[in-house]
Amino acid sequence: MKIYNLKKIIYKYDIKFCKSLGQNFLFDENILKKIVKVSEVDKNTNVIEIGTGFGTLTKHIAKVCKKVVTIEIDKKLILISEKILEDFKNIKIICEDVLKLNIKKIVEEEFKGEPFCVVANIPYSITTPIIIKFLSSKLNIVSLTILMQKEVAQRLVADVGRKEYGSITVFTRYYSNSKILFSVSPNCFIPKPTVKSALIKIKLLSKPSVIVNNEELFFSVVRASFKHRRKTLLNSLAIEFNIIKEKLLDVFLKVGLDENVRGERLTVIEFGMLTNKLELMYI
Ligand code: SAH
Repeated sequence: MKIYNLKKIIYKYDIKFCKSLGQNFLFDENILKKIVKVSEVDKNTNVIEIGTGFGTLTKHIAKVCKKVVTIEIDKKLILISEKILEDFKNIKIICEDVLKLNIKKIVEEEFKGEPFCVVANIPYSITTPIIIKFLSSKLNIVSLTILMQKEVAQRLVADVGRKEYGSITVFTRYYSNSKILFSVSPNCFIPKPTVKSALIKIKLLSKPSVIVNNEELFFSVVRASFKHRRKTLLNSLAIEFNIIKEKLLDVFLKVGLDENVRGERLTVIEFGMLTNKLELMYI
């Protein structure tokens, strides 16, 4: 859609942008095409899009994919995008909060249980819950190509030991390989966002990057390890799990961890090994 067309629509329907819904609409045709290109979606691919907006990205996805189910919470935008997208037979618009969405039901009803991809310019304020919801869904997701706040994208791909490395990094790495593909200027949106944006591609692994016997415990160990950043990992875990330090040190030595190590120094594999030993020995 040309920028003046988008501006005309905004004027015609008297749209007031809702900041809390993360309404920053992408109108730059080159960027929209580039996002779809790097998503590697083709005529055999089913797609879920989060945040239809005016259907600008939806349209580009629909041109190349098998079917796109697009989720939008704002009823006013749905009425508009239904008109804009009416010529496309492979688009289904659903009015729903993505965080309440039953993804499994969508996959069964709309995609006949086939694998799917996520391609979206999402509401930035709910990036982390969206990532957690889709990655932990255990559904057959091929990849997520998502435009998000740059700082959050940097946290998802951070190297071990960096200040951006945290529990969401370990969570993402447990399920996937991810990479930042490019940045997008605030000038490509209406209204311009106050933060920087980057496109990330998250490719799901066929199985998690480490075998853990108890996933729930694994994630609580990871969360506890980053909760007290200034404490050593030994002290953090002793507090969080109420374990005597001497016993915990024994576990550390068995998995080859230094007693003074901090949580941000552990790779996802080391977190997995630590959790498995902890479970066996004490929890
Ligand atoms: N993808 C569009 C819109 C991006 S703005 C584009 O690139 O132009 C983010 C969109 O997500 C808005 O349309 C907003 O109304 C919608 N949205 C916000 N919170 C949502 C939620 N919880 N569930 C579904 N859609 C949501």
